[in-house]
Amino acid sequence: MSEMYFETIVPILYMISCIFFIRGIKLLGKADTARKGNAYSAVGMAIACITVLTENEVITSGVMGYGYVLAAVAIGTVIGAIWAKKVEMTGMPELVALFNGFGGLSSLLVALSQYLVQEKGDSFTAVTLGLTIAIGAIAFTGSIVAWGKLSGKLFKKPVHIPAKNQLNAVLVILGLVAIGAYAFSADASIQFYGVVASTVIFLILGITMVVTIGGGDMPVIISLLNAFSGLAAAFAGFAINNTVLVVSGCLVGASGLILTLIMCKAMNRTLYSLLFSTFGGAKKKGATGEQKEPKSMTVDDAYLVLEAAKNVVFVPGYGMAVAQAQHAVKELCDVLENNGAEVNFAIHPVAGRMPGHMNVLLAEANVPYEQLKTADEMNPQMSNVDVAIVIGANDVVNPAAINDETSPLYGMPIVNAYEARTVFVLKRGKGTGFSGVENTLFTNDNTVMIYGDAKATVSALVAEFDND
Ligand code: NDP
Repeated sequence: MSEMYFETIVPILYMISCIFFIRGIKLLGKADTARKGNAYSAVGMAIACITVLTENEVITSGVMGYGYVLAAVAIGTVIGAIWAKKVEMTGMPELVALFNGFGGLSSLLVALSQYLVQEKGDSFTAVTLGLTIAIGAIAFTGSIVAWGKLSGKLFKKPVHIPAKNQLNAVLVILGLVAIGAYAFSADASIQFYGVVASTVIFLILGITMVVTIGGGDMPVIISLLNAFSGLAAAFAGFAINNTVLVVSGCLVGASGLILTLIMCKAMNRTLYSLLFSTFGGAKKKGATGEQKEPKSMTVDDAYLVLEAAKNVVFVPGYGMAVAQAQHAVKELCDVLENNGAEVNFAIHPVAGRMPGHMNVLLAEANVPYEQLKTADEMNPQMSNVDVAIVIGANDVVNPAAINDETSPLYGMPIVNAYEARTVFVLKRGKGTGFSGVENTLFTNDNTVMIYGDAKATVSALVAEFDND
């Protein structure tokens, strides 16, 4: 290809791809334009990928170079397609955590291969290569730990690292020294040890940073890891001098950071407390006095209470997603409205296992957006609510977050379902939620449990109304 193609057309194609990315991310900001946003971003990605394949370095690597690329694309496509087909909606958050991890890993591998095959560039390029290694490595191991925690495959119990902050601070300092050794030394063996040491240190830091985090802080750390994977890509773009990687990495990094800050605010946490405190580090309250048993009710009796209710609020949680009860919930919502009740949904920002999880499920069941209220909107009205129906939610309605300073959940805002006149809790048994913390709501005087799978219980309630 001609000189002009590489000097003029390639940058223009990258610019067009960046425009598609920026437009795409803007459209992704609203539910009704999100599909379009996804399509725009995919087109931008296709242009970027095809342009990279026509770059000088790839072309000059000849048939073998393309062979490797095609083999990698084929393997990735097969694994991705099978995985995407198999994954349940409830498994999406784990998959997202894993994607973040692979994003970090690919930036790390780009930086390591750049170190292996290219002459060391100027100090700026060398430092950006070091930072790619650092952030890519943290995003990789941190996300693997997050995946393990979310899927319940790793670290099932809260992990406590003594002097965690001091340990992490030492790792950061040693890692930065190693990057400095690589970037500013002229000695090849010092450069080699610098790269190896920084890779190992930051891989360990990813684990020590995330392993102590749990409960309400998990969604926030996943969002932060997502931002890290973007930042790593942006630094990789600087290291290999590729503009489209810098722009797309910055978009992911900046939007991830904004989401992290929004979620911190919604969870009443600061980024500092998220990173520097230990989940479950607070002393758990022992079983003081006699343990009260939750009261339970049959569907028949619950129907009689609901039949008389004029103001009902649904509080959905992860169990609604597991039971795939959203369509049955919409039916119950309709029969309650036909019966003259005002019905609303109180959605907690971290209900379920990913941001917007409940909104997506309820939108799929055609629940109108206006009925989906935030916890902040619903809480002031909660004492006027006749019945709050908690469907498979647990941590997000746990009053310990408000009134028990020793609880690991303390400080997290909740949906104040306990303030409703009557609270129905629909779940299968007495199991705890994601955080593993006992829920005092279940033994309150105004709470009754309706045990069973959420979809079966809600459908049975609908049937009671239909038979009436
Ligand atoms: P929880 O995980 O606290 O509780 C879910 C409850 O659902 C369980 O107690 C379980 O009880 C019940 N359940 C499970 N299956 C069914 C079923 N088929 N039918 C009826 N009930 C069922 O969920 P919440 O939504 O209240 O809280 C979310 C938690 O997840 C928070 O701690 C949050 O921090 C965390 N998290 C959130 C993320 C996000 O982005 N939203 C990401 C990562 C973590 P039982 O077994 O007795 O049925």
